[in-house]
Formats: sequence, structure tokens, C-alpha cells
Amino acid sequence: MGKVTRGYVYRIRPNTSQKILINKTFGCNRLMWNELLNDIKNKAYRTPKEIKTQYDFMYECDSQSFTTTWKHLNQAIKHKKNKTHQFPKFKSKHDHIQSYTTHVVNNNIRLEGKYIRLPKLGKMRLVQHRELPSESTIKAVTIKRDAGHYYVILRIVYEQTKEKASDVRQVIGLDYSLSHLYVDHNGNNPNYPKYYHKMMDHLAKAQRILSKKVKGSNHYQKQKQKVQKIHKKISNQRKDFLHKVSRELVNKYDLICIEDLDLKEMTKTKHFSKSIFDTSYHMFTLFLDYKTKDEGKSLIKINRYYPSTKTCSKCGNIQDIPLSQRTYICDCGHKMDRDQNAAINIATRGLISNLQTEYGTDSIAW
Ligand SMILES: [Zn+2]
Repeated sequence: MGKVTRGYVYRIRPNTSQKILINKTFGCNRLMWNELLNDIKNKAYRTPKEIKTQYDFMYECDSQSFTTTWKHLNQAIKHKKNKTHQFPKFKSKHDHIQSYTTHVVNNNIRLEGKYIRLPKLGKMRLVQHRELPSESTIKAVTIKRDAGHYYVILRIVYEQTKEKASDVRQVIGLDYSLSHLYVDHNGNNPNYPKYYHKMMDHLAKAQRILSKKVKGSNHYQKQKQKVQKIHKKISNQRKDFLHKVSRELVNKYDLICIEDLDLKEMTKTKHFSKSIFDTSYHMFTLFLDYKTKDEGKSLIKINRYYPSTKTCSKCGNIQDIPLSQRTYICDCGHKMDRDQNAAINIATRGLISNLQTEYGTDSIAW
């Protein structure tokens, strides 16, 4: 419950003149950033308004975006002072991703059917595959060009109104899986779409070709763009897939139990480092987190030191099981796929801790 801020990304289809203006605005904000940063280095401070008077062409662009760029730079300097980030860098037109951000003033940014209205740009087609939450307000928008495509990231605020349901009827336990994303306590996995693996092969091939080109040559640049396009396509497909899977789970279950994994630590080991699925899993848990909250449902993360893999889900016995061993076999006669066995333990553990938070530890008979 309460107000939440969230980002929603949509592809946009600007026409030719809109594209020209968007790219001009990227350029002007880049220039604004670099001028302001230069001022900081020279200890000569000007406001965006003062800088604008020196560059007539800046008046063509959304002036609110310059204020945002100024704010972003100040934040970056603050982060540097707190030693959480590096000192901000100058921006280049060769940067892979170009963007600018602007804030809503007097409802000047809004959705109109299948279109979005943006300052100075007017209406443009929005490819909207996910609805915004009802009663949400747009606060800011980032316009971005990535691998030749244009996107908006809408920063919206909305109220999570659904109360948490007190009775849990449907529970699911999910065990992290490198190849399947997860295996649930019934032994099912979400089936990564076939095209996904096909795209990964495409990517590998395109990267191989790139590695044989002379760096900096025309052929190299062209191939590099190709690789970036495939990358972007894969990441979009992956995101869509994760949205779909998490939505289905949240619609179906009241309590979803997962492990609280330290993925950063895991990627350090050789076995995991190459996997693109790691980033997917992190994103997946973020989606589950906000979607369960939106729907008044629960996501429970089990302590990462809980031995979900080593424990027999039938008798509770704990034993070591090597990574290569796919089946869990216990002296009690229990025999099961190792991931499913772990998922059952995670579901059980999650149910217990859900009861504990609801009724307090004392009221549970062990
Ligand atoms: Zn057993």
C-alpha cells in the first residue's frame, strides 16, 4: 500500500521530422551537459538559460529537458562527493545510447489513445503492449535512441490500493535454474521460447564475424551495429517473456516463494559467468516483487543459507549433493529431480515464514 514510482518503457514511432528534432535535442542536451561540466571544471558557473543565449539553435528544443540535464549533472557531482560514483564524463555523439529526459509541466506530456504527446514534438505513435496502472500520473519521460530504435521511458506514480489478502490459498515454490529460469515444486519450468535460443545463436555468429573485422573500419562499424541490434532484440524479447511469466504466476498464486540468491557472487564462479540467464532471474524477481504488491499478494524470499537443495523434502534429512547429480536420492526412499525437490523445500519454508509473520512465531506448532 502507498504511492509507488515505476518506469514503463515503450517503443515509439516518430516520423522523419520528429526524428530530426529528437536527434537535435539529444545533441543540444549533450552540448548543455558538456558546457555545464566544463564550467564545473573551470569553476565558472552558468545556468542553462545563460548557456542557451550563446546557442540560438537550442531554442528549438524542449527547454525543460535542459533543466533536467542540469539536475542530473548536479546529482552526478553529489554522487561523486559521496564516493559512490566516478566523476561525470563528457558526452559524445558516438555514445551507443542517446537520450534526454524532460519533466511534465501542466499536463504537456500525456497519452492520447495510441499516441503520446511530447513537448515540441507533438503526437507520435506509441507501441503499447502493457497498460499503465489505472489512476497513474506521468511525472517525467526519457526519450531514448538505442540500436536505431526510439523509446520512451515513462516515470509514473500510482497508488497501490489492494490490501494484502489474509488467506493464502494458492502457493508456489520456485527453485532458480540456470537453463530454465526456474523449476517449480510440481517439476514444471516456464519453457524459454524457442526463438530465444535461435536469437542467441544469431548473436554468437554476428559476434564471431565482428571479431574478424579490422577495428574502426567501415565494415567493423556496420557489423557492430548489427550486433547491437540483435542484443537489443534479445533483451526486449527476454523482458516480454519475463513479464508474461511473472504475470501468470501472480494471477494464479497468492504466495510465491523464491530463494534470495546472491547472483553477483554466483557470476564470479566460472560455471555461471557466461550465462545471460542470471540477469534475467534478477529482473524476474523484481517483476514478481512489484506485481505481487500491486495485486495484494505475497512474495517470500527464503534466506540464501537455507539448504534447499541438500534437504530431503520428504523426511528432512540433509546431505551433500554434487552439482552433476540431477536426481535427489534419500535413504528414506525419496527420489526426485533435484530442482523440484528444492522447490518443494522452498514452498514449505515460505509457507512457514508466511504464517510466522501473520500469527507470530509462538502460535505455530512444530
Ligand atoms: Zn528422505
